[in-house]
Amino acid sequence: MKLKEVKFIMEKRILGKTDFQVSVVGFGGIPAQRLNEEQVLELLTEAYDQGMNFIDTARGYMASEELIGYALEKLGRDKFYLATKSMDKTYKGIIEEFNQSLSFLGTSYIDLYQFHNIKTFKEYDQIMSDYGAYKAVKELKEQGKIKEIGITSHSKEVLDMAIDTGLFNTIQYPYNAVETQGEELFKKAKANNIGVIVMKPLAGGAIGKGEIAIRYILDNPNVSVVIPGMDSISQVLQNARAGIDRRAMTEVEKERLAKEASTLGAEFCRRCGYCLPCPQEIDIPSNFLMEGYYTRYNLQDWAKERYGAMSPKASDCIECGICETKCPYDLPIRKMLKDVVEVFN
Ligand code: SF4
Ligand code: SF4
Repeated sequence: MKLKEVKFIMEKRILGKTDFQVSVVGFGGIPAQRLNEEQVLELLTEAYDQGMNFIDTARGYMASEELIGYALEKLGRDKFYLATKSMDKTYKGIIEEFNQSLSFLGTSYIDLYQFHNIKTFKEYDQIMSDYGAYKAVKELKEQGKIKEIGITSHSKEVLDMAIDTGLFNTIQYPYNAVETQGEELFKKAKANNIGVIVMKPLAGGAIGKGEIAIRYILDNPNVSVVIPGMDSISQVLQNARAGIDRRAMTEVEKERLAKEASTLGAEFCRRCGYCLPCPQEIDIPSNFLMEGYYTRYNLQDWAKERYGAMSPKASDCIECGICETKCPYDLPIRKMLKDVVEVFN
């Protein structure tokens, strides 16, 4: 696939203390796992043409690294800043994970290597211990295989402390019109010259107004880059437009977004998947997603059919509660699944 000259001017911001001039909209790599090599190549080609130069993926995103690696081989590794991450917390384990990432991505270096989803202070202590993952990552940085080190979490407290240590050049945290709890954290990161990468810009698919939702995030000057997941050309174009057409949101747009956010309330699933696996093998986030399509997007017939085809589903929940101990948003999953059953009954 041939790259065109970059036609559009997307806003760029410096990523914290790094010298990376990143496009404000980057390519979130989670949905790539649903696609094949040629489809990912097509998406990344368009993303580049639209001015995106930042890719975020992870060892944990199934085939995502491999598929992105295929595309980078065709497009040229140097076209993008490449960020990946691992949840391994041990010295030995993270080196293995890192080498796998290099091999899958077909590269000799990673621009930004992140500790993925550090949930608690206990987990943080694990990575910082004598046999922990940080030591290994620091050594890889000294060898030039990693350019910068970052950390991702759903815990504000963990990231707040991580900023204080001065050991990380970026943080990654959710932010969108319904999850604004990170704003003070972002302010502190900016004051310390630490890059802010925003995940979950559409609240895990709960917010439908993609372009406006991303513009809302980019209006926050403390944000460096937002990484929406995308699995179609139309999504690439829509997301890119938010970074190219950089005008502040109008009052009407703000109202439209606020109205949509208000319909979600606090009890909604961000589809992070941390509650899985369920011993009953229920795909918990997909059940909530179908309910959302049914109740919020006027797709009743389609949602009902999809829900009907799911097996097992919400009605198979035995209320063991294991999922609730793993949900970073403390959602009352058992109660919410009962609501799903009611909606589809
Ligand atoms: S409470 Fe229900 S959904 Fe949650 S883990 Fe147990 S069986 Fe699965
Ligand atoms: S229920 Fe909680 S843990 Fe599970 S996907 Fe939704 S937000 Fe994530």
